[in-house]
Amino acid sequence: MARYTASACRICRRENLKMYLKGDRCYTDKCAIERRPYPPGQHGQGRAKFSEYGVQLREKQKVKRLYGLLETQFRGYYARGAAAKGKTGENLLQLLEQRLDNVVFRLGFADTRAEARQLVRHGHFRVNDRKVNIPSFQVKRGDVVAVKDKSKSVVRIAEAVEAVDRRGVPAWLDLDKAAFKGTIKSAPAREDITMPIQEQLIVELYSK
Ligand code: SF4
Repeated sequence: MARYTASACRICRRENLKMYLKGDRCYTDKCAIERRPYPPGQHGQGRAKFSEYGVQLREKQKVKRLYGLLETQFRGYYARGAAAKGKTGENLLQLLEQRLDNVVFRLGFADTRAEARQLVRHGHFRVNDRKVNIPSFQVKRGDVVAVKDKSKSVVRIAEAVEAVDRRGVPAWLDLDKAAFKGTIKSAPAREDITMPIQEQLIVELYSK
């Protein structure tokens, strides 16, 4: 399946935001955006002026890359958000947050969303006691996401769970660390998404 392959740190520097795409490294002084807080490339240190369109485009790119999606997938989420009741931008973010790979990451079973996606694809998780290996699977209130018994000893998962306190678990999820499982307490509220995102800019971009 196609995926975006640019260097994770390059993405952070391009979007001028610490997006925590590399797990452990993001918490060390090797973090590229802290060492070089300007866009990548030869002219990265020049003064960047964005048009209104440019600002909207960057916001869309930022969110798309944060969740590791390609344009077509992202457009699909936007269309679903626009078709649902309520505010399109908030619906979009809610749909993205409720992806199984994001929930696995948020619960602390993986260090990054990219790793969570791979672990889901490899069949390490169950939802309501059924194996689910589709990263885009949408969880809903009351669902229980658990690490498969045999997978509890997978080093990457065990180490990520141990380090979960560093990142914290959002209020809409409830983690049972000892049992390697988490429950979806509610749909994510806007305030649960703490990354600085201006979703209205994405709505404006796609409404043109
Ligand atoms: Fe971004 Fe820093 Fe992590 Fe690289 S190390 S992905 S720049 S937060």
